[in-house]
Amino acid sequence: MSFTVAIDGPAAAGKGTISRAVAAHFGFAHLDTGLLYRAVAAKSLAGAAPEEAARALTTEDLEAKGLRTAEVAQEASRVAVIPEVRAALVDFQRAFAARAGGAVLDGRDIGTVICPEAAVKLFVTASPEARAERRWRELRERGQAADLAEVIRAVAERDARDRDRAAAPLRPAADALLLDTTEMSVAEAVEAAIAHVAARTGAA
Ligand code: C5P
Repeated sequence: MSFTVAIDGPAAAGKGTISRAVAAHFGFAHLDTGLLYRAVAAKSLAGAAPEEAARALTTEDLEAKGLRTAEVAQEASRVAVIPEVRAALVDFQRAFAARAGGAVLDGRDIGTVICPEAAVKLFVTASPEARAERRWRELRERGQAADLAEVIRAVAERDARDRDRAAAPLRPAADALLLDTTEMSVAEAVEAAIAHVAARTGAA
């Protein structure tokens, strides 16, 4: 039987960390759906038409180097506005969600569009300042020097584009649990998410 956990939220809110921890705790598979858009973005930056890149995407493309850069992130939010790009990625995400043994998908529209029937939905947020600072630290740890003011600007720009687009905009599903991680440690946020999922599975 499939059991889907949908985790949505804006950039750098902690979705990835929480999703990986929930998946590891319950033995579920995990799909970072942002990677699909980043992989399309990398091809777009290399000159491909985004719609065609999305239709031709393979799982190997998700392992390409350089998908985590700030430049690819911005381009991802640009290609994510295109309805044909989004449509081309739906089947892969739904098939992943339906796999036996349980699945966690994180992104922007999982609880609203991709898996509206998900057993558990979380919307993870944090203040724009906290999120930008986390992204800045992440970039620095990866050796990508970044200016904090520029990261704040870039994260705000990407959030606005994700929120204001017509196709599958970023917003919480009506039945999602809101988890604001601004004042939470990673361990606290993970614990709260696991407790919420456990309450739905009946498992501990
Ligand atoms: O989560 P991540 O930062 O990797 O996502 C990159 C971009 O991909 C987002 O800013 C958003 O525009 C897009 N995205 C999306 N829907 C998803 C996941 C990501 O539109 N489910």
